[in-house]
Amino acid sequence: MKTIGLYGRKYLEIEEREMEVRSPGHEEVIVRVLACGICGTDLNFVRQWTGPAMALGHELAGEVVEVGPGVRTVSVGDQVIVEDCTLCGTCAACKGGRPDLCRTMFGLEGQSGMGQYLCLRHNSLIKYEGLEATHACLTEPLAVCLNAVLAARIPFQGSVAVLGSGPLGLMTARVAKLQGAGFVALTGVNTRTPLGRARLARAERLGLDRVIDAGESGWENAIRDVCPGGVDRVIVSSPPESINDALKIVGYGGTITFFGLHFGGRNTINVDINDLIFRKVTLQPFFAEPAINFHGALDLLKKGLVPAAEIVSHVRGVKEARRTLAGIVEGAEPVIKAVLLPQDH
Ligand SMILES: [Zn+2]
Ligand SMILES: [Zn+2]
Repeated sequence: MKTIGLYGRKYLEIEEREMEVRSPGHEEVIVRVLACGICGTDLNFVRQWTGPAMALGHELAGEVVEVGPGVRTVSVGDQVIVEDCTLCGTCAACKGGRPDLCRTMFGLEGQSGMGQYLCLRHNSLIKYEGLEATHACLTEPLAVCLNAVLAARIPFQGSVAVLGSGPLGLMTARVAKLQGAGFVALTGVNTRTPLGRARLARAERLGLDRVIDAGESGWENAIRDVCPGGVDRVIVSSPPESINDALKIVGYGGTITFFGLHFGGRNTINVDINDLIFRKVTLQPFFAEPAINFHGALDLLKKGLVPAAEIVSHVRGVKEARRTLAGIVEGAEPVIKAVLLPQDH
């Protein structure tokens, strides 16, 4: 069986490759892509990556079209979410109850999700029904948000600021509210582009307590007015340099949980460690690998507790991938989250 998939590198160099999909071996499954979300990682590849072109697309909802020997968990015709990075289940960390520390994970092995077919292990798939594929593919990014919120251990009715108004920031703020936070503020820099404006405007529709333009001077006051001593938790989805902003608003004994990455230089900060010690502030990095809590994320989407229709703003055919990626990278289109449909749609 042949498949067509997209591979990309700097700057917006996107190539379509036709490849052979191997026949499913023991415990392997062929999945036909139904929808694929565009992720910040894909954007990083086409904006900054100078090495060989990388496979694009890992936020996937699909349909099982063929199963190999020994597969009992899914059948032909099932709709499935694809985990892009599955824990092994057999290492010391997995068996010791810390699968989040697994280092022998199963990935997509360079297969492009912005394509038609992938050959995957059966244990990377989660069956679902009752959701549009274009919404179901939010499971992967939402699981990242859910894990970050759980890692932050928000006190009951505590105060939280989420930095960054991209899809991950928006969904993290929403999940923090669901997790029992009494006050949730979201900050984003309104870049004065259609994209920057659209994201801050969309945040206003998610039931948060404050939406703040962090590009305005004195933005911290919008939080200090409500929480004079600072907030209990800051969760940073924006580039690491915004931990400087987090330090301005975190309260005594608070925690800053951060998962935003940047590969273009905005990934270092200068921290006054004395200040952390005297204020008892914890810096907590968080990395969403391997896939954990996909079931929980899927449940939030099914129940409408995280409103997928507010997050997915653009659905297009994969033939429009380049135009869509360019629109996001350049900020020229009011994209919250874009989802691509495969070739044969
Ligand atoms: Zn992603
Ligand atoms: Zn493991």
